Amino acid sequence: MNKKEIHDLEPNLKPFYHGGVFYDYARHARNPKKILIKLFQNFINKGGKFLKLNIQDLNFDEEKPVLRSETQRFVFDKLVIACGAFSKKLTDKLHENIPLDTERGYHVHFKDFDHLISRPVVYSNRGFGMSPMDQGLRVVGTVEFGGLENALSKSRIKNLILNAKDMLDGLPEHKDEWLGFRPTLPDFLPIIGPSKNYKNVFYSFGHHHLGWTLGAISGKIVSGMIANENTNMDLKPYSSIRFA
Ligand SMILES: Cc1cc2nc3c(=O)[nH]c(=O)nc-3n(C[C@H](O)[C@H](O)[C@H](O)COP(=O)(O)OP(=O)(O)OC[C@H]3O[C@@H](n4cnc5c(N)ncnc54)[C@H](O)[C@@H]3O)c2cc1C
Repeated sequence: MNKKEIHDLEPNLKPFYHGGVFYDYARHARNPKKILIKLFQNFINKGGKFLKLNIQDLNFDEEKPVLRSETQRFVFDKLVIACGAFSKKLTDKLHENIPLDTERGYHVHFKDFDHLISRPVVYSNRGFGMSPMDQGLRVVGTVEFGGLENALSKSRIKNLILNAKDMLDGLPEHKDEWLGFRPTLPDFLPIIGPSKNYKNVFYSFGHHHLGWTLGAISGKIVSGMIANENTNMDLKPYSSIRFA
């Protein structure tokens, strides 16, 4: 799109740009949590059980996977590890060498300023974007290799705010400084499928920048595997064996 076309779509953007790309098939959610809660309710309504526990150990009892929290022990017929960037803590117990890391990313909100744009707008040269959300205008981005333990980097938050102010006038004080952990593998593909060494353990993690978008389809694929359904999809590229 040229300058005028961008201005017609997003008149509040400062005219810093020369051109852009418009993805007219793209969709976005103003409140992903609301969607997640609906999925969760559906799971519970269908007889699913939810326990909020920190799983600290994984081993086997006569080939059956056993999970341990601080106070409880569970034996399962089959198990799925879907702990995002934290999955490696469990897969390392399965004689795997999966090079999962985290691409840390940040966001802030400008409350009540979501009206300034009407769709996600990405400034690709600078690696950040803005989306209108229920919580306000969300400014989001950056990729940081900083592990799971280190604190949030204030300079990255500052950078997001400065970038947003380069694109829009009149932004107020920001709210909700957030750091998230994108679970990423070196070849940028997730790991979906059975463990290399234990046939009753399945993986579904490593969806990097697109886990929210891809989670449902990966869940469907994994549930098919667990139910021993046949598939004509070639799932080899997603196997953990590629890192063996
Ligand atoms: C800044 C940013 C922007 C993003 N934007 C988008 C986007 O626009 N679209 C998109 O599709 N994706 C986006 N993503 C990526 C997306 O958030 C991730 O890919 C997705 O959250 C991964 O989902 P997950 O369920 O695998 O892991 P998570 O969401 O990290 O969930 C893992 C869960 O496992 C639990 N867990 C971990 N270890 C244990 C344990 N030992 N015991 C018990 N529970 C445990 C955690 O508490 C957590 O609830 C973004 C990520 C970031 C950081």
